[in-house]
Amino acid sequence: MLAAQLARREIGSVLIEGGARAGLGTAFSTDEPAHVLNVRAEAMSAWPDEPDHFARAFGDPRGFAERRFFGRYLRDILDQAVANGHVELVSSKAVAATPTAEGWRVELGDGNTVTARAVALAIGNQPPEPLGIAGAAGRRFVHNPWGEDAKDAVRKAAASGGDVLLVGTGLTMIDAVLSLAAAGHRGRIVALSRRGQIPRAHADFVPAPVEQSDVPQGDVLAVWCWLRRRSGEVGWRAAVDSLRPHSQALWRSLDAGQQRRFLRHARPYWDVHRHRIAPQVARQIHDLVAEGRLEIVAGRIGAIEAIEGGLEVAIGRRGRTVETRRFAVAINCTGPLGAIERTSDPMLRGLLDEGLVRPDQLGIGLEVDQRSRAAGGERLWALGPLTKGRYWEIVAVPDIREQAAAVAEDIARELEQ
Ligand SMILES: Cc1cc2nc3c(=O)[nH]c(=O)nc-3n(C[C@H](O)[C@H](O)[C@H](O)COP(=O)(O)OP(=O)(O)OC[C@H]3O[C@@H](n4cnc5c(N)ncnc54)[C@H](O)[C@@H]3O)c2cc1C
Repeated sequence: MLAAQLARREIGSVLIEGGARAGLGTAFSTDEPAHVLNVRAEAMSAWPDEPDHFARAFGDPRGFAERRFFGRYLRDILDQAVANGHVELVSSKAVAATPTAEGWRVELGDGNTVTARAVALAIGNQPPEPLGIAGAAGRRFVHNPWGEDAKDAVRKAAASGGDVLLVGTGLTMIDAVLSLAAAGHRGRIVALSRRGQIPRAHADFVPAPVEQSDVPQGDVLAVWCWLRRRSGEVGWRAAVDSLRPHSQALWRSLDAGQQRRFLRHARPYWDVHRHRIAPQVARQIHDLVAEGRLEIVAGRIGAIEAIEGGLEVAIGRRGRTVETRRFAVAINCTGPLGAIERTSDPMLRGLLDEGLVRPDQLGIGLEVDQRSRAAGGERLWALGPLTKGRYWEIVAVPDIREQAAAVAEDIARELEQ
């Protein structure tokens, strides 16, 4: 989206993509029809000033498109910018970025180099690191739910019919369950998290917008109490969505201690109400639970032991004794890497080590200013999930497209000087 925004301003860019999915990223490079958007088509336009751009392409503004369809939509936009000569695609991993007198030099994994006057880091979520659970290793424990190993595990579990353990019960778990079902898996699936909360379903509701001044600022508990009261008055979907236009400002009103409190206590509940799933997906999940094929467990994993043909896992259910279950495979669905300092991306590692970027106040992304410029480097921007420490609500398309437009404008201004 940033490359397309720059192209609109006739600014040339080089888009470096290391995963052979330029324009699609992790979310929209899936080839599975079962993976649908969790945002209605009417909110998924790539262009903030043309809000129905994607809905027109999809044909049903209130519907939920397949993610691969949205991927093709983004790719078309990118291809147009390439055809117009504004974007050059480079298929290689960026492994280092160094400031120069003219701007930046980016070294690539294939040995080539790209020079540029400015750099924007749009490298998305960092893959999760191995879970710190004894025995969570080996080929039967998949750490990265978005990699080839996970696809392979799904195929093998479907072929063997063995039971599958999914660690985490959020949107990544939903994706994994859908993949298993689509692959014809007939075994049982256990999805486990500390609270056992799963994403709620989208449904129609009467919006109940509020002014920012109606909502308490600077205090997580006060916002939470407000949200509960308001949910009682107008319904929880209307209450949660009424905070959308204000969520970045609300987040900024919290000090680091309050933000940490939100992450620790409120986030699991906020996520499942705020990031909802398509009704058809919710129905499928409901049916799988009703058939006894999917079990959502609130609990903790004790030890994991590799056994012949799978894993033996000790599961401590909330308020109950520990039980041992056997699984053919386990997939980590706990979400992206939480601590940016532990990134394994060599370019990001180098930038952190050189002090050209630094972690935000919570350590979940990079510190950026109000223009998304990275603290530490000159002419260096960061976008998307990398900036969630500053904005929090910056991981979905409706927010990222605004950021992409604003950053393109800022880059244009900067390069004019
Ligand atoms: C599974 C999933 C489903 C989602 N579904 C929705 C949805 O339905 N609706 C919605 O609005 N949002 C959804 N999101 C959230 C949102 O769309 C993503 O967070 C968003 O796509 C992030 O965009 P990005 O460009 O910052 O990162 P990404 O889309 O992840 O793109 C980053 C790209 O950078 C590449 N890369 C990383 N490091 C390097 C490097 N060093 N060198 C070269 N290339 C590199 C990666 O290969 C990747 O292709 C979903 C996210 C996920 C993970």
